[in-house]
Amino acid sequence: MREELIEKAIKVRDSAYAPYSGFKVGVALLAESGRVYVGTNVENASFPVGTCAERSAISAMVAGGDRKIVEIAIATTSEEPVPPCGMCRQALWEFGREAKVILVGASGKQVVLSMPELLPWAFGAHHLGGAKGKPLLLKGGFVLTMDAQGTSGYLDVLIEAGKITGIARAGQGGMRADDVEVIDCTGCVLLPSFVQTHVHLCQTLWRNRADGLSLMGWLRQRTLPLESHLSQEEARISALLGGCELLLGGTTTIADFGTARHTETIVEAALSLGLKGVFSKVIMDDEEEFVGLREAPEKAVEEVLALAQKFKGRALFAFAPRFALSCSRHAFEVVAKASREHGMLVHTHCAETEGEVQDTVRRFGLRPVALYDELGLLGNRLLLAHCVHLDDSEIEKLAKTQTTVAHCPTTNLKLGSGIARIKEMLDKGVRVTLGADGAPCNNNLCVFNEMRLASLLQKVRHGAQALPAIEVLKMVTRDGAKALGLFDETGSIEVNKRADIVVLDAQKVWCTPWDEDYASAIVHSMDRQNCRDVLSDGRFVVRNHKILGIDEQELVREAKKASDYLFERVFGRLS
Ligand SMILES: [Zn+2]
Ligand SMILES: [Zn+2]
Repeated sequence: MREELIEKAIKVRDSAYAPYSGFKVGVALLAESGRVYVGTNVENASFPVGTCAERSAISAMVAGGDRKIVEIAIATTSEEPVPPCGMCRQALWEFGREAKVILVGASGKQVVLSMPELLPWAFGAHHLGGAKGKPLLLKGGFVLTMDAQGTSGYLDVLIEAGKITGIARAGQGGMRADDVEVIDCTGCVLLPSFVQTHVHLCQTLWRNRADGLSLMGWLRQRTLPLESHLSQEEARISALLGGCELLLGGTTTIADFGTARHTETIVEAALSLGLKGVFSKVIMDDEEEFVGLREAPEKAVEEVLALAQKFKGRALFAFAPRFALSCSRHAFEVVAKASREHGMLVHTHCAETEGEVQDTVRRFGLRPVALYDELGLLGNRLLLAHCVHLDDSEIEKLAKTQTTVAHCPTTNLKLGSGIARIKEMLDKGVRVTLGADGAPCNNNLCVFNEMRLASLLQKVRHGAQALPAIEVLKMVTRDGAKALGLFDETGSIEVNKRADIVVLDAQKVWCTPWDEDYASAIVHSMDRQNCRDVLSDGRFVVRNHKILGIDEQELVREAKKASDYLFERVFGRLS
């Protein structure tokens, strides 16, 4: 077939109308129906009126009723193969993002390329957002709405302009069915897409390269030196890598703990993929060795306020002192004041290890929770990651002040920090949410890992009835959204909320059979390979298990290269 296509392209090339340039191009494309369409360049005395061969062939294809290019051969009169112009690459993307492109020179030499190679990070229809697209009807799936009443069942969900505009029992009608794109969700479970309240997108590049270290070694030997050398481009790649992983696993909303620099780059990268949430820039004024990260807290706060202004309506921001051991009392005071004045979240680490608690006592004369209490930080604007080493009175304090805990079970185990007292926290009424923390201390950003571990760890401590699956699901949906102040928009499938939805394909051997209490199946037997589709603001960010808008394999190559280069710069040649 390919030879035939090339032959046709060469043949039609002779018909090209190119009296001005003498540069003749012939194109033959194979469409999905099996039909072949041809085109040539057509020049004009008024030069801009001319058209390329690729777009001529596309016009013929569309007129012929086809919409998808499988393979396209482009033959020119140059000896060497010549690539399509920029405009044609964009035109080809519209109809053939999976097409093979064969470039043929007059010498007979051939080059075969994929569309992402010709047009990396291509602009496509999905970038226009749900706002202008057709309404979507998610039909035939079992929906766990995670609303206050715990509504679930076979429900159809209508999405218009990025929002959920209708939910109805399957087959009961009452929902517009005209001019909608129907997404068949038969055999699937639908949930609000996940919220992770503690991740570090900037650290993804040292995944699998910081193992075997406990917290202080992990920080001082790896994370702080690497963060202080991270270039802007590396920060961007790191955020894209972590962001893609989060989306492929059904997480669309995050609280990201940033580094000292490149905050804007990280936020832009995350937003470009369709992630959203609360971003931050680390504040640390007391780390002698890592000057690249040290900064006056006033300056850091000012930068965060400027970013919050700049990204208004697109992203929220928090103040993020790293932890008690890298900040002065003054830094915490500046942060507390800014949080009060601007009603913004404070995101920090707390009582991750026993050693950290003891060092905090030595430094401030107080344990971390008492320190934050004294500074006036406790409250529903405070998000505390870890909280592994808390006593009863500290748990009570967090409950009373409505302070949120971001539980990171994998990290706590991997760094050997301990097991957080989650059941005690829930019993006292603390709002507990989940996060995968950074890729280098996990080493995934997979919400399913965190859900399962969160549940299992409490069962080991308190018996098999502890922490039922549905409670874990609340942590990564409604409670996560509440913690970030985003529950009006996300965290449950309800009319008028943003359409942030994950469609889990339940027809897999590893999660069959299941009860219609799907919570247990999701927490205990599903994983991210079940994530078929992920919608953020009503648009697909993952469809049929594939991330949209970015070439995953290209990103993998880029990230590996960037990580190698970063390690070489910081630690010398890799052995
Ligand atoms: Zn062109
Ligand atoms: Zn962390």
